[in-house]
Amino acid sequence: MARVLPAVQPRKLAKVPFVELADGRLQGVVSSGSDIERVYVSSIAAGSHGLNCSTNNNRPCGGLRGSPCKHLQALVDEAVLQYGADRVARYLRIEVDGELSSGADLVARLRGRPESSPAAVVFSRFLRHLAYLELPETTEPIPELHWFPAMGAVR
Ligand SMILES: [Zn+2]
Repeated sequence: MARVLPAVQPRKLAKVPFVELADGRLQGVVSSGSDIERVYVSSIAAGSHGLNCSTNNNRPCGGLRGSPCKHLQALVDEAVLQYGADRVARYLRIEVDGELSSGADLVARLRGRPESSPAAVVFSRFLRHLAYLELPETTEPIPELHWFPAMGAVR
């Protein structure tokens, strides 16, 4: 774990600062390409592949019109980096028929349509995630995290 130093310049956010496989969804937070103040909460439901993308203020994403927007594509790319393409495909129950190595391979196999999803829940998980990143560096167990079984969210 890296110690968090006070910012001397405006913080450059990662493109996808938060991604997780949880609650039956691949979900996460994707920063806007154009506006540093704005983030998108994007999710893909396992099984149905229902797609959702909206801003943290619950405005629907203008790019999500039947096919995945660039935020969903960025989310899948980041998930593939963190979890591996096979694991993401298994979690979302994407049928794999051949080569599967990139996020684009996964996105091409999504069968879902836009559907509403609770962005506020994902966003509050992201804020908790940030809070833990900013805990002082320690090797002691964090009692609040004991409740979570290791890797329990992903099966
Ligand atoms: Zn979007």
